Amino acid sequence: MDSSCIDIKGLTLTDLAEMLRRWGKEKFRARQIVKWVYVRGATSFDEMTDLSKSLRTELSQRLMISDWSPEQVERSHDGTCKYLFRLDDGETVETVRIPMEGERATLCVSTQVGCAMQCQFCLTGTFGLTRNLRSEEIVNQVCAALKEGPVNNIVLMGMGEPLHNLDNVIKALEILYLDDGLGYGSRKVTLSTSGLVPQMAELGRRITVNLAVSLNATTDTVRDQLMPINRRYPLAQLLQACREFPLKPRQKITFEYILIRDVNDSLADAKRLVKLLHGIKAKINLIPYNEHPGSDYKSPISEQVEAFQTYLLSRQVVAIRRASKGRDISAACGQLKGKANDSPQQGDEVR
Ligand code: SAH
Ligand code: SF4
Repeated sequence: MDSSCIDIKGLTLTDLAEMLRRWGKEKFRARQIVKWVYVRGATSFDEMTDLSKSLRTELSQRLMISDWSPEQVERSHDGTCKYLFRLDDGETVETVRIPMEGERATLCVSTQVGCAMQCQFCLTGTFGLTRNLRSEEIVNQVCAALKEGPVNNIVLMGMGEPLHNLDNVIKALEILYLDDGLGYGSRKVTLSTSGLVPQMAELGRRITVNLAVSLNATTDTVRDQLMPINRRYPLAQLLQACREFPLKPRQKITFEYILIRDVNDSLADAKRLVKLLHGIKAKINLIPYNEHPGSDYKSPISEQVEAFQTYLLSRQVVAIRRASKGRDISAACGQLKGKANDSPQQGDEVR
């Protein structure tokens, strides 16, 4: 395969149809090709037997079909699975499959190698940004995970800030949504942001997706400290952007709130949170902070989590407590670092 070829997994249906048109081919073949790639899992154009031999030859001269397999798979005792992928420039990204009720699973996908946002509680943030992932690198995490089992929901909550890589992320979503391809409905996909206000508006204008916002504090003083992005877009601006974000009837914005002991877990915080979210169609995910070496922050005591949640519920605010899964394999929220793990834990399957 010629590496100078364009990767088909980074093309939307419109891109592909337009290319075919430019090459003097029938545009409608695009749908057929998409189906071969995403539904039948074709890895070469030769397999596409309902296309003419000459079209197949031409396609294989101009396009390539990338096909990922994880370099390493770690399985947690709770069923969570972490995949490590090696990219063509030697960098790595991690993707996490989280088992849900029944046979269902949610896939947590990365959008960047590292992250530039420098949130103080997040391991990914401590390494800085190496580079954006291309659309095909985002799509391929899903394609590779699908070879290992079903993926019902997709969350862009792995490494990276999706809105800091907006164009590639939007294109990847368009590809994941393709009717004749993977066919994920926009209700099945959630994008989580630390709060890049102008990009939130642009996202809402350009594509439909569920929005999650990592809030994590109820005052600018605390949020400035935890999440430096707040110095640029403080709480009032962030919440205004949430109010303006287009929502379907019955759709809500998810607010992620990591509870960190003695930092943001007081009852006063819970009260402020209710006030801040007043008038916004919101649900809150309460996530006890996952400790990691190199950070002094501590997990909250469970009574505090309980009290926090009880207060929110008493004010008719939807608040779900989320225990992060996969902690024993460093697959939980904020623990992804994208470096090959040289000493996997005993009992974990690694290949
Ligand atoms: N950059 C995006 C998406 C990836 S981070 C964002 O920040 O929203 C995914 C989630 O993990 C965020 O909600 C973040 O607040 C949370 N997180 C980061 N570090 C964590 C930690 N140590 N414990 C628990 N959650 C953490
Ligand atoms: Fe980046 Fe999100 Fe981690 Fe902040 S919480 S450093 S935005 S990945």
